[in-house]
Amino acid sequence: MNCQDKEMYWRLLLTLRAQLRSEVSILLDAALDVDVTAPPPDPCDTCDACPATRRTSVARTWRDFIERLIDRKGAMLCQVENALAQLAEDAYGICQECQSPIPDDWLLTIPYTMLCAACHSRQTVT
Ligand SMILES: [Zn+2]
Repeated sequence: MNCQDKEMYWRLLLTLRAQLRSEVSILLDAALDVDVTAPPPDPCDTCDACPATRRTSVARTWRDFIERLIDRKGAMLCQVENALAQLAEDAYGICQECQSPIPDDWLLTIPYTMLCAACHSRQTVT
């Protein structure tokens, strides 16, 4: 990989990392705003038809969804950090499975990938 390509991937990964950090921060704020512990305003807290129970159920579903998004974004952020570390060690762009250079079109599609498209396909099939 030449210096220009390395610089381009460095900038791409840094931009992606900043974007992911921002998204995780926004999602964490959103998760904190979801109140799933507030007691219902009336004593009917066991009835499914009760608006307060329904509201709490929707809040929990919404919070679970946000938490899954945070987990996915966090995992992607970790992969970006690993890719940056590999780039710093001149090991970026080499498939960790077959040790072949990863083509630029695949790296541009998934800049934090550790596998070439063929090895990636084999892993997702098995
Ligand atoms: Zn491979």
